[in-house]
Amino acid sequence: MKKHNFYAGPSILPQYTLDKTIEGIRDFAGSGLSVLEISHRSKEFVACMNDTISLVKELLEIPAGYQVIFLGGGASLQFAMVPMNLMVSKSAYLNTGEWASKALKEAKLYGEVVEVASSKASNFNYIPKNFSVPGDADYFHVTTNNTIYGTELKKEPDSKIPLVADMSSDIFSRSVDVSKYSLIYAGAQKNLAPAGVTLIIIKEDVLGKVTRPIPTMLDYRTHIKGESMFNTPPVFAIFAAQQTLTWLKGLGGVRAIQKKNIEKAALLYDEIDRNKLFVPTIKDPEDRSLMNICFVMADGYKELEKPFAEFAKSRGMLGIEGHRSVGGFRASTYNALPLESVRALVDAMRDFEKQN
Ligand SMILES: *Cc1c(COP(=O)(O)O)cnc(C)c1O
Repeated sequence: MKKHNFYAGPSILPQYTLDKTIEGIRDFAGSGLSVLEISHRSKEFVACMNDTISLVKELLEIPAGYQVIFLGGGASLQFAMVPMNLMVSKSAYLNTGEWASKALKEAKLYGEVVEVASSKASNFNYIPKNFSVPGDADYFHVTTNNTIYGTELKKEPDSKIPLVADMSSDIFSRSVDVSKYSLIYAGAQKNLAPAGVTLIIIKEDVLGKVTRPIPTMLDYRTHIKGESMFNTPPVFAIFAAQQTLTWLKGLGGVRAIQKKNIEKAALLYDEIDRNKLFVPTIKDPEDRSLMNICFVMADGYKELEKPFAEFAKSRGMLGIEGHRSVGGFRASTYNALPLESVRALVDAMRDFEKQN
């Protein structure tokens, strides 16, 4: 039976990426070696790294003055690296979920942190609006897509101070105005590659302001200077990222995939809104994530949660259980998820409604 991969991360990758990765494991770029065993300093891998960086720049239309680097440690390491490198004395955070809270917690190790707004009291089911960002903070941190709760900040927030964004779960899914941000980071395992690499896009003018000692490996300047090869980079994950970005470019780039993502999300949200058995956890359409679509059983049907989970599983749906802090269901509809998988889930929801 065909499996439909709705996992939140690691998550579905394009078939193209899987096929090309298998090829590369057998013979990488005609080198006669596997990508798993070749030196990161080989001319073949240096070319792969350079091509991956240019694809990132091209697909996100990154203006001049920005550096693209690949690091290990996941998005979670960035929670600490951002304040360590950027925060002289004060920073501002918008608290929209568990990842945002974790980022905020790390920042507190390095100075004063202003939480400009938080939706925690209502289990993060909306994106706060009308907050004000202190003009004397060193940067303002946002999480553009809240993977666990299914909310998304789809417009660049107004900020007079440098803007920093965790885009782990919506990078490359929609066009963003990179010039509005000073730093963007994203763990690869949602929309780009297998786990093991983190993409960082950084405007160099935010660096060099802090006086605290920064360990060499945690200093962005080390990796900019070393062109992501100060130490051994995650070769395999970067190679896979190159495949995904090549696939995305072939589809017409970020704008083209954004259209598809809007179409997929609309199909599923419409069914959640229509179906008597289910309710969305995010009410405001403006805040609804295009990548992680969360829903729970409607009042009066709570006892059908387990039976629906079983029913969906019997139809090949994998990974639709909601995060433990939200419950219910979460269908992740990342770039690589075909419309056909969303249709299959919608059909399952309709058929289950008829039976109940
Ligand atoms: C998955 C995720 C993280 C954590 O990423 P790691 O690579 O596991 O550290 C952080 N932020 C967001 C928004 C995520 O979706």
